[in-house]
Order: sequence, then C-alpha cells, then structure tokens
Amino acid sequence: MSLNVTTIIERIFSRETTARATVESALSAAETLNESLNAFLEINRQGALKRADEIDAETKSAAGTATSPSLAGVPIAIKDNICVKGLQTSCGSRILGPYKPPYNATAIDRLLAAGAVVIGKTNCDEFAMGSSNENSAFGPVKNPWDISRVPGGSSGGSAAAVAAGIVPVALGSDTGGSVRQPAALCGVIGMKPTYGRISRYGLVAFGSSLDQIGIFARNATDAAAVLEVIAGRDSHDATTAEVPVPKYSDETEKNLEPGFRLGVSRTLLGEGLDEEVRRSIEAAIEAYRGLGAQIVDIDLPHAKYAIAVYYIIATAEASSNLARYDGVRYGFRAEEAPALRDMYKRTREEGFGAEVKRRIMLGTYVLSAGYYDAYYLKAQQVRALLRQDFANAFKQCDVILTPTTPTPAFKFGEKVDDPLAMYLNDIYTVTANLAGIPGISVPCGLSSEGLPIGLQLLGPYWSEARLLQLAHAYQSAHPFSRRPQVYAE
Ligand code: GLN
Repeated sequence: MSLNVTTIIERIFSRETTARATVESALSAAETLNESLNAFLEINRQGALKRADEIDAETKSAAGTATSPSLAGVPIAIKDNICVKGLQTSCGSRILGPYKPPYNATAIDRLLAAGAVVIGKTNCDEFAMGSSNENSAFGPVKNPWDISRVPGGSSGGSAAAVAAGIVPVALGSDTGGSVRQPAALCGVIGMKPTYGRISRYGLVAFGSSLDQIGIFARNATDAAAVLEVIAGRDSHDATTAEVPVPKYSDETEKNLEPGFRLGVSRTLLGEGLDEEVRRSIEAAIEAYRGLGAQIVDIDLPHAKYAIAVYYIIATAEASSNLARYDGVRYGFRAEEAPALRDMYKRTREEGFGAEVKRRIMLGTYVLSAGYYDAYYLKAQQVRALLRQDFANAFKQCDVILTPTTPTPAFKFGEKVDDPLAMYLNDIYTVTANLAGIPGISVPCGLSSEGLPIGLQLLGPYWSEARLLQLAHAYQSAHPFSRRPQVYAE
C-alpha cells in the first residue's frame, strides 16, 4: 500500500479498484508484517471488510464524483488508547483487560463519517508513557528500518504501520512528543496540532492539559486530508476551540511566499545532539533558505527547563487520571482479595507496569501537600515562562525549526534501565505540548547506518496550515525515495 490518500480515492471513484480490494490489501499487509513488527494489537478484518463493502455500495450510487465523502475507502490504523466502538482499547496495558469501549472517540466518528476504514488498533507504550515502545505490556514494536531498533514512542505501532506501507495514515496521541518522535525515528510525517484543535473525547487521558491526538502520514497532503476531517469544535470536549477549520489539503499545496521567516535557536543545536542529526538539520535549514526562507536567530531561554517541567506536570496529571483503574470500572481485577482495599492494591500492582507505577508515584509526590509549592506550582510557573518564550519568538519569526530527536533510532535495551536518559529523548518535543502550540516532524534524511532523521517545525497557535505547507514544500523539493527493510508492496 504505497498509495497515498488522493490516489486511493481516485482509483475507487473511477472504479479502477474497490474499497474492498484496498482494505483487503491493507489487512493482509498488517497480518503478514505483524509477525516481524508487532505493530498491531488487534486487526479488524471482519469489521473493516464489512465497512468497505458499504463504502463500495455508497460510491456506486455517487456516480464518479470523487469529492465527498473525502476519505472513502482509505484504510487507517488507530493507536490503542483511542476508543473505537467494538474494538479493544488496551492502552498497551494489562489493567484494562478485555475492555471494549461502547462508543467512538469524536475523531473516529468523524473519520468513519468521511468514509475511512479502521483496519486495527496499534501497539503503544503503556498509557502512552514512553519514548521507545518498550513499555508496552504486549512487547515492543520494531522499527521497520531496522528491526533491532526501537520505533520510538509512545505511538510506535501507528508510526511503524505507516512507515511499512501498511496504511497511508494513522492516528496517535502526543502528550510530550509521542507522534513527532516515532515519526522521526520511522521516517514519516507526524503532526501534533494546537491544543484544542482535535477533540480529546474518547482519547484515554494521560496528561489532560498536554494530550492531543496527532496524525501520521507519508506525505503532508495526506496528513492534511485527515486533519480537516477530524479537527474542530466538539461539544463533548470543552477544551476544543471555536476556531474555523480551513481546507488544509488546499492550503498545503499552495506555493510558499518568499521571505517567510524561519527561526533557529543555536543553543538547541548545541550539546547532546548527534553529529549526523546536526548535519541533516543544518542541510534542512539551507534547503529552506533555497525555498525562500529568511533565517532568523531566536532564543527560547526557558527551553532548558522543559524536560523537568514536563515530567512534573505530566506525572502529576497522570497520577490523577490513572486513579480510575481500580478493578471495578474496567476489565481487569486481581483475583482473591480478602477486602476492597486489598482488591484495589492487588489490581493496580498486577495491572500496571513499572513505568506507569514510577509515574504515579512521582506524580503523587509532586502533588502532595508538603511538596506541591516546590514542584507542581513551580513547574506551572515555568510553563508560563516557556509559553512567553514562544510568544516572543513568534514576533521575530513565522515558524521555528529544530531537530525532532537528539539521535536516530536506538537499539532495544539501550535506555530501558536509565529512565532519565530515556526522558532526555523528548527534549525537542515537550515544549510544544507545554505551550499548546502545533508541531510537525518531517523526514529530512538518513544517517550513515540508514536510519531516518526528522526535522521539527513549530508554529504559533492554529498555524497547522502553514506547517503542512512548509512540510509539503520541503518534501516536494527533497523526495525521500529509500524504503525501509520491512515494507508492504
Ligand atoms: N515520551 C514522552 C513520555 O514518555 C511523551 C509521551 C507522549 O507524548 N505520550 O511521557
């Protein structure tokens, strides 16, 4: 399935193929490649084919008009922390047991209404906590470029499914980089929109003030096609904004106006950055100069505190959000507890993995009466300063360019015993979530070992159209022709 969204739709509407044949080929690629990738936790063969048949019936009566619905017959993979009615939602955890949500997330309702077909639920770090997928209770996803390496996390399954050509597009969630970081490590586009752009209704909460559903695609136009369907106000999520949703797919293909200002922070290209990533990023900056950008030096003085601030706020919110898994409301309950409190304790002890427990403890600690002011409150204050840094920077430039990750994909086991080293992987991505601004990761080359490298573009609130346009301009000028080792033909 190396086809893009537009081609799929055109072929279906021109009767060159059917939604059924398209979905069938995605399903068989998912089934075959899952043995090596472990990207899917559930494959929705029956449901997807049934839906594809319905789409075929509808398009027959639509007589060749490829305008609506806009994603008719497009196979899509969904991270296993986003609710799809009737399919499992495990969040990569044991604690949800066989839980199947009785409702769709708003993003899913909108995708289905546009004709997209959910082919399966993708593997992820437990409750989206991680940067390597090694925290999934169901074993890690493998990177399609090199299966001895991590795909990134936490939305590694969705990133791998798109990179391996199983589906053209997939959904993930991004609390601190979980869409952009795996996108960079797997060589695909990953976009986290502005906080409030996409409804979080039906996305299992991790850090509610940071969480946002994000999109994986192999090109910016496909990401735009999905974003324009799922974005916008939702009465089920009071944090969604009334901001109008542009036709992103049209905006994406518009030519760049020369003289746009691209901000670069030299301090972010300093210490700790892999040499090959640095070289790729420098080359990308030059490529944008060639596309008409004016390069502006900017400074984000509080970015150095971002990891510390993120890991206080994210764990605090997680400790509160995860209190609901008590063995009563959802699927899993520990057996044979003598009393209610023991049942809670045993359920949580057996149901949660090590990283989730670490974060619940950290989060509970930073919120406790004696430490709240020193940690949580302080972190919120620095978060406000960081937001101000971006507001100041966006007076001088239109968009900021940074690396997405400090290194290309690392090997399994390399960082699992050192949580701090793992957390440092998020150094370039967490700032966008803390500030609420949108960001996109775009593939910008391969390392000498043939591993993808990603550049990140960050923009002001609601600048998704511009980010997609800049990603598209870069991809058109620098097509990424190499394919991963594991790829569906
Ligand atoms: N890697 C970060 C973490 O572990 C981000 C996770 C995410 O965005 N869901 O928290």
